[in-house]
Amino acid sequence: MVKKGLLERLREGVVIGDGGFVIALEKRGYVTGGPWTPEAVIENPDAVRQLHREFLRAGSDVMQTFTFYSTDDKLKLGGNEVGNEFTCSEINDAACRLAHEVANEGDALVAGGVTQCPSYTQGKGKEVIQDQIRDQITVFVSKKVDFIICEFFMYIEEMEWVIEEVKKSGLPVAATMCIGTGGDHRGVPPGECAIRMAKAGADVVGVNCMYDPYMTLDTIREMKRALDGAGLSPFLMTQPNGFYTTGTGKYGYLECHEYPFAMEPRVITRFDVHKYAREAYDLGVRYIGGCCGFEAYHTRAIAEELAKERGKLPPASAKHKTWGGCNQLSAYSFIAKRCGREYWEELVPSSGRPKKPTHEVNMNSN
Ligand SMILES: [Zn+2]
Repeated sequence: MVKKGLLERLREGVVIGDGGFVIALEKRGYVTGGPWTPEAVIENPDAVRQLHREFLRAGSDVMQTFTFYSTDDKLKLGGNEVGNEFTCSEINDAACRLAHEVANEGDALVAGGVTQCPSYTQGKGKEVIQDQIRDQITVFVSKKVDFIICEFFMYIEEMEWVIEEVKKSGLPVAATMCIGTGGDHRGVPPGECAIRMAKAGADVVGVNCMYDPYMTLDTIREMKRALDGAGLSPFLMTQPNGFYTTGTGKYGYLECHEYPFAMEPRVITRFDVHKYAREAYDLGVRYIGGCCGFEAYHTRAIAEELAKERGKLPPASAKHKTWGGCNQLSAYSFIAKRCGREYWEELVPSSGRPKKPTHEVNMNSN
């Protein structure tokens, strides 16, 4: 059976993305926090395969290759110390095989993922950046991915260079920047970034990582307003963090004092995700997913909130009822009462910790 492509799916309805691989696999013991490189695709393929599978069961329509930070300049930077001995080509090759394998267990597409290169902030220029990206894309094309996601870019200039290079593959391109309402790291506003991504040739534009779903929606709202004003209509995409980031500045969740090893109290609930998915959809976002902190149960909440629009529930919903309805089956009557939308939507969870937070206010990263 021939799979429908990304753009066709977006024209017809919603595409659900996946979640955060580096953060999830660090907690499970397969990634080193700090360098955050993806050599696990070679060292522990079962761990990566299982995470893909969990997102597929939760409703993800896209298996994004686990190739975050997989450029040779970055792999060499952080890699040696944690024993990474692999090249970008070796990692991307293995990542494609895993993503395809699991995508074919369902009806998911495979997206090759490319990210920012350290060479950009080192001032090495357009040619060097495009060389780094070309190495990644060569593997993606030969491994027949369905489209490319350029994500986690802080500078619109670097993003434009990357889109220009990626476009040569002839594949559809999704482009998301890790920025908030303050714009890129030179202060280019989100609206202007969106226009420039669209003009560079991205079919899908938006925001990923760094901020919680609601802050991310504020940014995509600005992008949409500017795109409408410019008469441009690329598809919109959001893949926010699964952490609350209220009050953070231009580095988003990286500014949280708890980042990266004590973020648990900031994790959003599945019910927060219902609200996010509905607001994103109503805003016109058609590629709705998550990034760091987003686990499969969050993705399932997107699929459950949009079940009517999609005409289906994901396989993982066989073990779950929307809005905690399965709690009715609890043997304890006081728990069985905690069920239904009214209860869970109103709930503001406590952290349960006896001490006050060490830092109640986020300090600026600078
Ligand atoms: Zn992320």
